[in-house]
Amino acid sequence: MANKIILTGDRPTGRLHIGHYVGSLRRRVELQNSGEFDKIFIMIADAQALTDNFDNPDKVRANIIEVALDYISAGIDPEKSTILVQSQIPELTELTFFYSNLVTVSRLQRNPTVKNEIQLRNFETSIPVGFFTYPISQAADITAFKATTVPVGVDQLPMIEQTKEIVQRFNFIYSPDKPVLVDCEALIPENESCKRLPGVDGNAKMSKSLGNCIYLSDTADDVKEKIMKKMFTDPQHLQVSDPGHLEGNVVFTYLDAFCRDEHFERYLPDYANLEEMKAHYTRGGLGDVKCKKFLNEIMQETLEPIRVRRHELEKDIPAIYDILKKGSEKARETATQTLAEVKAAMRINYFDDAELIRAQSEKYSGSKD
Ligand code: ATP
Ligand code: MG
Repeated sequence: MANKIILTGDRPTGRLHIGHYVGSLRRRVELQNSGEFDKIFIMIADAQALTDNFDNPDKVRANIIEVALDYISAGIDPEKSTILVQSQIPELTELTFFYSNLVTVSRLQRNPTVKNEIQLRNFETSIPVGFFTYPISQAADITAFKATTVPVGVDQLPMIEQTKEIVQRFNFIYSPDKPVLVDCEALIPENESCKRLPGVDGNAKMSKSLGNCIYLSDTADDVKEKIMKKMFTDPQHLQVSDPGHLEGNVVFTYLDAFCRDEHFERYLPDYANLEEMKAHYTRGGLGDVKCKKFLNEIMQETLEPIRVRRHELEKDIPAIYDILKKGSEKARETATQTLAEVKAAMRINYFDDAELIRAQSEKYSGSKD
């Protein structure tokens, strides 16, 4: 049986939010604990974060520890999963350089996520080359660890597509008989609302860069305030008796992502399940405040254990850095092995190829001085 290997990660551009949680983190913890995977690599993508934060290295530097704390408090277990810091694995950069020969500029320009992000960052007139090519570096990250499974949010699908193309081209050109690179599959959430969780403000995506997040480490009061005061609902739902709309209504999208039937028993016994609650809302007669209070109960229940674990972990920060150092060292062993295979397939392993040296000396064996 082929190995089942996970690679996934986040950019250290801020603390992790509930979009990361439902989009990928919650699933990673389940997969980790399922015991079905031979290896799990979780990467803090600092080199990628620098592609659009190159002028603010201190932001990236400060957020490494925040992301690591969020991971472990959300249930990532360093005994079961290897947490690594991307920049500490130089082999990834080498792979990126070699793969860049296999990708055209027009192919990168077609990537819808990159297009969108270029717009968002006002890079239209001057795109940094590093940012433009980050899908290639992402392919290096995935293939360096021979990942078969990549649990990500839906915005990452174009990156996985790009990776699959690189794997195919590489194997076709350099290792047609015995493929060196392993094909991977994205694992995206089944729940529609989790694929791309909207921001508290109703923006299509909760994102660190947009400042519309509920962070895993927010205090109970912050969470409550964001839900009760800032959360976008249905602007046409002015009176409680008015019929409400679910489309674009952030409260209901979050309920879709987080609510289970047992929450009704505990916090809102008027309804048996979310369907009944939604029906009442659309019919009219259910106010936004009541819905928000219910959501707040659920969010507090979900986030409280994460917050408590984080407070514990915050007491020993050097231990967290140590986990990252050891994880990076361990990950580097795997990446080094893959790079050696890649270089051999690309015929650039001159010095450890006795056959090459022998053949070349034979060619010149006739020359005497
Ligand atoms: P940035 O704004 O710096 O790009 P981000 O909030 O988009 O940050 P990333 O580190 O780029 O976060 O994404 C990490 C992972 O989390 C990816 O798998 C991504 O698909 C997923 N993710 C990010 N935001 C969301 C969201 N709102 N809903 C679902 N998944 C998300
Ligand atoms: Mg992003």
